[in-house]
Amino acid sequence: MSIIVNKYKCGYCGACVGVCPTGALELIETWIEVDNKCTGCGICQKVCPLGAIEVDR
Ligand code: SF4
Ligand code: SF4
Repeated sequence: MSIIVNKYKCGYCGACVGVCPTGALELIETWIEVDNKCTGCGICQKVCPLGAIEVDR
């Protein structure tokens, strides 16, 4: 399970990176990277102010 970050919507605020309980997200310059620690919990999706994150189930 993973997530999809819509890079056209993302404002690179870093909010999702801070809330991820498994540390699966990293903000690299202007790109959010998701690694395989993602459990698909959906917390980042809820916290994103721009609706840029979709959980891929
Ligand atoms: S779905 Fe959960 S585990 Fe995956 S990146 Fe978002 S907050 Fe982290
Ligand atoms: S919370 Fe949303 S807008 Fe902010 S960095 Fe994450 S995906 Fe981008």
